[in-house]
Order: sequence, then C-alpha cells, then structure tokens
Amino acid sequence: MEETPIKFELLHVDKYTGARRGRIITKRGIIETPVFMPVGTNATVKGLTKSNLEEINSEIILANAFHLYLRPGLEVLDHFNGLHNFMNWERPILTDSGGFQVFSLPNTKLTDEKVIFKSPLDGSKIELTPEKSLDIQKVIDSDIAMVLDVCVNSKSNYDTVKDSVIKTFNWALRSKEYHNHKTQALFGIVQGGLYKDLRELSLSQITSLDFDGYALGGLAVGEKYQESEKILNSFGNRLPENKPRYIMGIGSPTMMFLSVENGMDMFDCVLPTRMGRHGTALTFEGKINLKSSNVKYDEKPIDEQCDCYTCRNHSRGYIHHLFKKDEILGKVLLSIHNLRFNIFLIEKMRTAIENDDFKYLKEEFFNNSTYSLTN
Ligand SMILES: [Zn+2]
Repeated sequence: MEETPIKFELLHVDKYTGARRGRIITKRGIIETPVFMPVGTNATVKGLTKSNLEEINSEIILANAFHLYLRPGLEVLDHFNGLHNFMNWERPILTDSGGFQVFSLPNTKLTDEKVIFKSPLDGSKIELTPEKSLDIQKVIDSDIAMVLDVCVNSKSNYDTVKDSVIKTFNWALRSKEYHNHKTQALFGIVQGGLYKDLRELSLSQITSLDFDGYALGGLAVGEKYQESEKILNSFGNRLPENKPRYIMGIGSPTMMFLSVENGMDMFDCVLPTRMGRHGTALTFEGKINLKSSNVKYDEKPIDEQCDCYTCRNHSRGYIHHLFKKDEILGKVLLSIHNLRFNIFLIEKMRTAIENDDFKYLKEEFFNNSTYSLTN
C-alpha cells in the first residue's frame, strides 16, 4: 500500500443523521473527529501556553501561512526547522493557505496566475501563487496544508463566484502537481458561494483530484444561517466518505451542530478566544457576559459542567473583577474556558454519535440553553 501522510478511519456514522465519528492518524499524533481546532494565528493560540492547550485536549491547532510569512518570516521559521519546533508544539498543525486573509485585504488584484496585494506591514507589493503558498507551508512544516483558493464574500454576484470556482480549480490542479512535501497532507477546497450549481461544479472538479481531505470554503463569510444550512444539507455528505471533511471558519455551537449533523469532521474559529478576550463566556446555559454587574457576587464557576482550569479554580465574581480592572489574567482564564467549552462540546458529540444519540444531544443542548437554532 502507498504511504500517505495521513490516514482517515471512519469509525461510525450516526443512525439518524449524517454525523460521523472518525480518526485522523498523523505522524505527530491521532486526531479524533469531529474535532475543533483552536486558531494560533501568530504561532500562538492567544493567551494559552502549551500546557494549557494540552490540558484542554487540543489535538491539533491551526496556524496561518499568511501571517507567519509576514512575521516572523520564512528565514526565522526555516532557522528553527519549522513551526512545531519554533513554538514547541509537538501535536499536529494545519495551515491555511493565506487565501482568506489576502482576499480580505483592500485593493487585492487577482489574475489567472496569482493574487497581488500590498503588505499590511510596509505597503510593499507581494504576489501569492498556489506554488508559493505551498512553499510557505512547507517551511512551516504543517501536517496538513491547504491549497490556495479564490475566496469571495457572500454578497458576490454569480459571475464573480463562477470566476472564483474556475480559478480555484486551476489553482487546485497546479497545487496537486506542485506539492512535493511527502510527509504533509494536502486538502482541496470546494467553493461556489451560495449558488447551488456552482457548488455542484466545484464539488465535481475538486473531488476529481485525489486530495488527502476536502474542505468546504466560502461559508461563515457573512451569509445567513439558513443559507449555510442549505449548502451543508446539499453538499456536506457528498464530499468523499473516506477522507476527512473540513468546514473552514466555523466554531459557534449552533454551526458546529449543523456541520456535524451534515457529515463534517473538522472546524476552526477564532470566536472562542476573541469572545474570551472581550468578557463573553460560552456555557451550556448560553452566553454569559462576565463584565456585567449581575455576576459581581457570583461564587459559581463559569460553567458547573466544565472541567477546565478556570472552572476548577475560580468564580464568575473573581473573573468579573479581573475584567473590571482590565487584568490580563481575566482574558487568559476566559480564553482557556471558552476553548475547553468548544472541545468539551465536540467530545460530547463524539460519544453521542457512537451511541446513535446525536439528535437527542442536539435537542437537549438547545432546550437547555439560550443558543438559537438559527444563528
Ligand atoms: Zn471552564
């Protein structure tokens, strides 16, 4: 059998939904799926140490090729023999290609061959090609690399989205041809925005290429819940069954339930840490604002079900005080909790899938919390 950089085992599919329980085997460790990946944009998951990440059971983290290319730059990463060694993280890392960040910048110019943009650091002109993105991800030495795709926002018209689908496929072909890092997996990305026929086209094009995994891109870019629901219902379970399926940029409890239900395996989102830095806690009751004076005298942990360091050691009232005084520890403690909450929720989903109970877990979760099923 040919050696592949990763192996995917599909362990069980829930009897009543499309939810899947699986396992990705990499040389740097096993990733149980479904999995939530904390985002480590600048070679750090904001506020968390390596031991914090291990303690919340983060099996993989996501890093950002575009940001790391700008700072610390490839010379430094190369000098340190890649990102794992640089940040002292031994478990798997997935890198995004930089496409999403580059297309979010103002005045980005797109041609058939490449995307040209101004460096947000010094305004200098930078060109990114599918090949260059893979070169960057090779120096980073991530375990899973993503192809460079053309990202559009949810308001884009049909012709713009169609053009992005065509370019995304050409760039996927070039990436597949060029990728030469034998121990690194490469995932393809399906685009097509909210247009079903373009999603259909992109799905057939991208899955005609033998990638190690497949992602749905172009969701969580400002569209309504119902719009993502339609795309996930139609396409989630049509991605190849024997490969990991990744939906990029989602991480709210509602979107994770929707995605898992439709057969997706991997998720990433800055939401838990961003909310954590702004004083909002994710709990099994719903979101709680820890800056509010309602919790000033509250002796309870953030979430009584949660097993994280923060919930084992501190009260809501104490964290409220830290936020009032703008103490750095408040942000750290809440980031630890929010990430653990997402991972804990995913762990519950895994058990539920194994027992064909996913529907019941979803019902219970929404009945007992203030999260809404539609956003
Ligand atoms: Zn907690």
